[in-house]
Amino acid sequence: MEAKKNISIVGAGLVGSMWACFMAKKGHNVNVFERRGDMRVKEVDAGKSINLALSTRGWQALKELGMEAELKKIAIPMKGRMIHQEDGTQDFQPYGKEGQAIYSISRGELNKALMNRADEDSNSVFHFDYKCEHVDFEHKTLKFSTHDGEIRTISSDYIFGADGAFSAVRYDMQRTHNFNYSQQFLEHGYKELCIPPNADGTHKLEKNALHIWPRKSFMLIALPNLDGSFTVTLFLQFKGKESFETLDEDHEIIPFFEKYFPTALQHIPDLIKDYKENPTGSLVTVKCSPWHYKHACLLGDAAHAVVPFYGQGMNAGFQDCYVLNNLLDKYKDKEWEDVFEIFSEEHAKNGQAIADLAVRNFIEMRDDTADDHFLQRKKLELNLMNTYPDLYKSQYQMVTFTTEPYYDALTKGDEQTDFAEQLLNEFPNKEDWNNSAFDKKVRNRFLVFKISDKHREYFYLFFKCINK
Ligand code: FAD
Repeated sequence: MEAKKNISIVGAGLVGSMWACFMAKKGHNVNVFERRGDMRVKEVDAGKSINLALSTRGWQALKELGMEAELKKIAIPMKGRMIHQEDGTQDFQPYGKEGQAIYSISRGELNKALMNRADEDSNSVFHFDYKCEHVDFEHKTLKFSTHDGEIRTISSDYIFGADGAFSAVRYDMQRTHNFNYSQQFLEHGYKELCIPPNADGTHKLEKNALHIWPRKSFMLIALPNLDGSFTVTLFLQFKGKESFETLDEDHEIIPFFEKYFPTALQHIPDLIKDYKENPTGSLVTVKCSPWHYKHACLLGDAAHAVVPFYGQGMNAGFQDCYVLNNLLDKYKDKEWEDVFEIFSEEHAKNGQAIADLAVRNFIEMRDDTADDHFLQRKKLELNLMNTYPDLYKSQYQMVTFTTEPYYDALTKGDEQTDFAEQLLNEFPNKEDWNNSAFDKKVRNRFLVFKISDKHREYFYLFFKCINK
């Protein structure tokens, strides 16, 4: 049996709490240090979204912990995007094939469920109001300032930084040799608002959809909650003509919503209160590599903070836990620091890929979801996925409904999108999407994909010539 290790996890957010479950399940002594209080005792403002979209990668990790069934009970399936056009019409775009959905879930409830699960295991202990101030990688110690004003030093065998986008563990790694790091803020921020339930507790908008009001340089989205309400998020530039800077007073906020979001405004009775009381959050992309140094390893946003437009930040963090847990099983005979290296080498490029995909999806949600050509391509892609389910997966499908590495979803997905564009140019009419010329074109293309990667390029060029 593997020797018990003393594990310190910094951060009891979604990813730190999940990693505590995985580590405790393996029988190690786990100590989790969180700078805030215990959210199970007193509601603490996470300063982040109230609900989140949970998809296949996240579910895979939760399933491994045996938590899927329990959490499905408090999650609402969203089968597609409901686009609210400027003229007041609505257009429902399914996310995937029949039966596929992403799930809206409360961040707080999910976090508490993970903490409770870790707590059920006598191997793990949570320490709240412990703020990590410094990591000494040479001596494997962590320095914390605590609620009583003390500074405590904790020794451990292994250290995991799951302390979010502005990670203290990563901050100290940045000062080590060969550590690459970049941070990019979006010029947009976000603010949360609320659509309350109907008097009978039902939802005011379609419950099983993620609602989007795309307006080119800004947008509003809404995700359903179990109590019949929707959490609404306004994404808007910080500066400029119509921005958080200029929309400050009641007489500025209301006309803005009347002009651009009248169909949402009618359901937001406390707009001014919500707008003024709720903080304006910023959105940051963090990329770094490697994700480890000596006996320490980063997980979740600490390793890869991404903007929220693909709904993948938490899902990616949960996938980190799943992947690293499996690598530790696979390489039982290796030292953990060597496994961290493998994890980092194989996986850091995936963090970078989802960061890029998330920025792109912002542009897609904001600008393209109301664009006719884009909508036609989405319909064509849906047709391809239904007619050739074994051959065609859109980029969105790969990211959201598979556990394929994000890097592959980025590269293969781009090829698929290009191909869908080519098809759309050649077959602009929906009526032709089942004819023999269309079928031939698709099959020829995917014959290429069935052939080994080595020869794919040659065949691709060959078929490109004969299809001209
Ligand atoms: P965090 O949630 O940031 O948790 C880090 C924890 O570490 C916190 O509890 C913090 O208090 C603690 N901590 C920080 N510093 C210290 C320190 N020095 N010492 C001790 N403790 C410390 N993702 C999705 O998958 N789907 C979505 O729909 C989605 N929507 C989002 C919407 C918005 C508006 C935003 C901002 C993000 C969204 N995300 C979404 C991303 C998701 O919130 C993050 O990816 C996820 O919270 C990362 O979890 P984490 O545990 O790595 O980090």
